[in-house]
Amino acid sequence: MSDLTAIFKPALLVIDFQEDFCPPHGSLAVPDGRTILPILNALLLLPFALKIATRDFHPKNHVSFASNHPGASPYTSNFSITHPTNPSLSYTTTLWPDHCVQNTTGSSLIPELDVSRVDRIIEKGKNPDVEMYSAFYDPFHISDSGLKDVLKGAGITDVFVVGLAADYCVKASAEHAVDEGFRTYIVEEATKPVSPEEWPEVKRGIREHGVKFISLGGRELGRVQDLVI
Ligand SMILES: [Zn+2]
Repeated sequence: MSDLTAIFKPALLVIDFQEDFCPPHGSLAVPDGRTILPILNALLLLPFALKIATRDFHPKNHVSFASNHPGASPYTSNFSITHPTNPSLSYTTTLWPDHCVQNTTGSSLIPELDVSRVDRIIEKGKNPDVEMYSAFYDPFHISDSGLKDVLKGAGITDVFVVGLAADYCVKASAEHAVDEGFRTYIVEEATKPVSPEEWPEVKRGIREHGVKFISLGGRELGRVQDLVI
């Protein structure tokens, strides 16, 4: 029998489980975002080789805030972000209400999240000039959180992505995990989308990128490898 631990070294990534992304007070609250708390804490009890929580952590002048663009409205206005040194590169992004501003209550992790089980907290979105949904890096690779090096340095083989929001930061982080060569999973019950009506379609795209969706389906949680069987 082969030594499973040699080929299966899983990490749990809890994405952006912060006050501003959760009802009742969040400025960019994801519908039912707070309800995933018990599942996140149950997953944190499992013996993952590495457990990481991320925080969206923006300066006040962040490019993704509608308030920084005269006349723009959150959720409905878009903005084109151009590469600082190569104007031929750009991407269009949605503008949001101010959220997760550094050192505000909104940027705090949900206090009931069992951070005593988290090995490391990684901050993202600190560069004011680029949007960064992914916990790895922005689309131009200008701002890198260091997550890739942490995972590779620990010899991680499989990445389980949970947290908020399913259709933005969980999506982008899981897709980058695939790009970086990790077997990657999203735990269905441990995430919620900003736009539930568009989620089935978005999910299809995430699957096509190579991410597997797994469902806990009421099963008893014990060994991490049982999640993928
Ligand atoms: Zn943000």
